Amino acid sequence: MSPADRPALSVVAPCYNEQDVLPEFLRRVGAVLDGIGGSAEIIVVDDGSRDSTWDVMSEAAARDPRIVAVRLMRNHGHQLALTAGLSICRGERVLIIDADLQDPPELLPDMLALMDGADGKAAADVVYGQRRQRDGESLFKRSSAAVFYRLIGRLTDVEIPSDAGDFRLVNRRVLDVLLAMPERHRFIRGMVAWIGGRQVPLVYDRHSRAAGESKYPLAKMIRFAADAITSFSVVPLMASMTIGWIMAALGFAFFIYSIVGWLMGANLPGWTSLMAAVGLLGGMQFLMLGIIGAYLGRLYDQSKGRPLFMIRDIVGGGR
Ligand code: UDP
Ligand code: MG
Repeated sequence: MSPADRPALSVVAPCYNEQDVLPEFLRRVGAVLDGIGGSAEIIVVDDGSRDSTWDVMSEAAARDPRIVAVRLMRNHGHQLALTAGLSICRGERVLIIDADLQDPPELLPDMLALMDGADGKAAADVVYGQRRQRDGESLFKRSSAAVFYRLIGRLTDVEIPSDAGDFRLVNRRVLDVLLAMPERHRFIRGMVAWIGGRQVPLVYDRHSRAAGESKYPLAKMIRFAADAITSFSVVPLMASMTIGWIMAALGFAFFIYSIVGWLMGANLPGWTSLMAAVGLLGGMQFLMLGIIGAYLGRLYDQSKGRPLFMIRDIVGGGR
């Protein structure tokens, strides 16, 4: 698709059982787009909802030519539903937003301005919403999020901004790289951070849900965190290597200790050989596990098939 055919802007929102907020969401996003002017589309993805989300969005799409309703075969989960919407959208710039109005669509003009690079600031590839406060979220959700972002910051080289969700504006170049990343367990905010380019935050206050309830119960949150950590870090896999070295050293020391005891005649019969074998074997096993972890980690990185590099600009040479 040539750039001339693209709408200037796409808004992409995954929706799972969002019948109660969807009309208000579409109204508010529509109003924001009216204010901005220019060509735009709104892609809403029904992630296998069991309520009337699909009826609401498909009727809206029939009325308003800007709205595109997409229905998935079944519930794929937030990140994959979002990926489906992103692969369908055609905009030159794309706003990723939740349908529950926790992230105000009215921030879009500010995000666009930041991306344009107003006031002598450089243009940006990504403008991400950074939460100043979280209304209506439990203490547990806030503190678990804090722990999670600290942990993942420790475990990876990628700087994943803390307190940012998927609410962000990305340009076509970043989006195309994101879509070229074939991994199944997607942690999109981390993948966008990994892509790089110039990424700038926009601080905002996150509201509570306009209607409906969170679709992230504890089990889903844990799975999401596990996806995030395992797709950005092989440190847990490598941990067995560290433990392995410690265990091997301890095991060897134990081996020596039991032999010395035996030579001095201090051991019960049978104890020496047993302890020597347990110490040596235990240590060796952990070390071997660590070695397997090291290879598996590299194999895993390779099998993700991410692009090896991403070119930001080429100047000259007619390109
Ligand atoms: N969502 C989805 N599929 C799912 C779960 C959630 O498409 O399986 C959507 C949901 O409709 C919402 C967004 O993902 O637009 C974020 O979900 P939610 O608001 O429940 O998460 P929270 O804000 O509580 O973390
Ligand atoms: Mg929400």
